[in-house]
Amino acid sequence: MFFKDIIGQSETKQRLIQSVKDGFIPHARLFSGPEGSGTLPLALAYARYLHCTNRQETDACGTCASCQQFNKLFHPDLHFVFPIVNKKGSKEAYCDDFLPEWRQFIAGNPYGNLTAWLRKIAAENAQGLIYARESNEILRKLNLKAYESDYKIMIIWLPEKMHETAANKLLKLLEEPPEKTVFLLVSVEPERIITTIRSRTQNLIVPPIADEDLAEALNKKYTLSAEDLQFIVRLAKGNYEEAIKIIDSTGENEIFLDLFIAIMRNSWKRDVKNMKTKAEEFASMGRDRQNSFLAYAQRLIRENFFYRLQIQEINYMNKKEAEFAVNFSPYVKEDNVIAFMDELALAERHIESNVNAKMVFFDLSMKIAVLLKQ
Ligand SMILES: [Zn+2]
Repeated sequence: MFFKDIIGQSETKQRLIQSVKDGFIPHARLFSGPEGSGTLPLALAYARYLHCTNRQETDACGTCASCQQFNKLFHPDLHFVFPIVNKKGSKEAYCDDFLPEWRQFIAGNPYGNLTAWLRKIAAENAQGLIYARESNEILRKLNLKAYESDYKIMIIWLPEKMHETAANKLLKLLEEPPEKTVFLLVSVEPERIITTIRSRTQNLIVPPIADEDLAEALNKKYTLSAEDLQFIVRLAKGNYEEAIKIIDSTGENEIFLDLFIAIMRNSWKRDVKNMKTKAEEFASMGRDRQNSFLAYAQRLIRENFFYRLQIQEINYMNKKEAEFAVNFSPYVKEDNVIAFMDELALAERHIESNVNAKMVFFDLSMKIAVLLKQ
């Protein structure tokens, strides 16, 4: 990751580059910003720039020995700490056990969030943590002599996921930092990091990516109509990963919209036979997609309510959804919108707690039939 690869954030990049030129290299920086804003890519580009032995005006050179090691994310003076799951294979795990997957993850999806990382290590349903035992590893690595660089750099991704014991050890390190060591903390929820750690870091607040920068980046990678591009950028709210997700799920969105329309029609007509058919279809989708659909349905109800109120500027519907809203929105009113949302949220909870999906869906269709006639 080079500075030139980062989407937007020109002011933040400029600040980082200038600080290196000025010789101002704080021993701990805290990059805090929302998911998909590029905090980790910024930390990586900054680390590369610091280590580069032939720094250029606005970026690392890309060819020196250090840069070559960075290309493979394999640099003896670059260390990573990140949330993991408790065990790998049968033994207690350390971050280093996940390094091959981690390198792939940050090379392929540096804007990814914790969920994406946990999916990468097939631990979606687990909670990622930085365990207490990791602090011994951190100490060990920092006690190593710097191999070939001026600095040892330790990137800690999501320090808010640190076990208390590890956090306290880190605090001690920040209080008396080992020489020539730079900590780069990368956080989504900095308010969950203990204040004593935060107060010992140079805080760098990274904003969401600006709409025009996000649009430019998406335009380079995809062929999108101006209309679709505008829609995706509005929905993504400065989160690059989210924008990619929206583009990837466009096919799925269409399936969800068709299903949503079918439920509403069947319920309106009280067509029990087709309600049952659709319930079977829903049951066959698998739990993840069932929940995605229910989340989608809640969004569409909310959008239709706003559409009916003619609040266009907060409307986030694509063309097909908006076409359906012309006829459907009159049915989403002040006196049933809350009940609609509650029923969908309840269905989501039932799916999560493993209630029979067919029953949940059929029940939901019946309740919608009542709500539509209100
Ligand atoms: Zn270089």
